[in-house]
Amino acid sequence: MTKLKIFSVFTILIAFLAFKNSEKILETFSTTYDPAKQDKAAPILFDENQQLEDLKYLSSDDFMGRATGHKGGLKARDFIVEKFQKLGLEKLNGSYIQSFDFKGKSHHDKPTEVTAHNVLGFIKGSKYPDQYIVLGAHYDHLGVKDGKIFNGADDNASGTCALFSLASYLKENQPKHSVIFAAWDAEELGLQGAKYFVENSIVGQDNLILNLNIDMIGRNANNELYICGSRYHEELKFDLVPAIQSNKIKLSTGHDGADGKDDWTFASDHGPFHKAGIPFLYFGVEDHPDYHRDTDEFSSINQDFYIEATKVLVRAFEKADIMYK
Ligand SMILES: [Zn+2]
Repeated sequence: MTKLKIFSVFTILIAFLAFKNSEKILETFSTTYDPAKQDKAAPILFDENQQLEDLKYLSSDDFMGRATGHKGGLKARDFIVEKFQKLGLEKLNGSYIQSFDFKGKSHHDKPTEVTAHNVLGFIKGSKYPDQYIVLGAHYDHLGVKDGKIFNGADDNASGTCALFSLASYLKENQPKHSVIFAAWDAEELGLQGAKYFVENSIVGQDNLILNLNIDMIGRNANNELYICGSRYHEELKFDLVPAIQSNKIKLSTGHDGADGKDDWTFASDHGPFHKAGIPFLYFGVEDHPDYHRDTDEFSSINQDFYIEATKVLVRAFEKADIMYK
């Protein structure tokens, strides 16, 4: 009891001192950075509310966990096609849909031939129309297991809906390089969509100059977003990454095989690009308690984090677009 009291008084004292101190820090800091002013001055890059609405919808039970080859997966495909159309993206090869078959395990089925569908949209570059930056995010997820719907709000409805905002931004701000917006299918079954795209590239593998992969950018307890892959290419490490710092979320590089952490080099759709020698950066968070569980829901998304992560991606694209010549 006594211990606790002393502890409480002590805690209050510390809290008070910390508060006084933080006021001071804020005072000095505000001469260089005022978050309120910063926000007002910041240009509106895309419709943030629309992005959140899209995420809420794509991660709702309507899509039954977006399993490849299942009804919910096809519904997600059609929703993305509709979004690409509305955004005014061009078709790449006469269609928004790139279908392919692969031998694999369909979700909770035996090994079988599975048909999957990437959704691809396109904006032509003003200066380098024959060089392509691929902005990608997988839209498939785990479907329904034991009567539970795995809605995959973070994994990876978050990345898919960020693609829509990037598309709307780049429709207003024509890029120098051509851009392919790729919503991959069958990532959860072994990166199949990205693999098929890279190996059967519509525009020629040599013309793919960079892949920015978005997979799980909706939340992180430490307010930290990882950028993986910069260690493989000097221009990414020394030019691109330093140019995209955020004052709202922590950006960390790593998880690419050199820091003793889980190596994500082949953990998501950037893998097939890297295998083909194409530079990539992967943006994503470390696994959270809801990762690959039926609790990965829209309600657990940190909306501010998610929007800021998307803005980081806009900046990453812009830097890449002026960096590659
Ligand atoms: Zn994922």
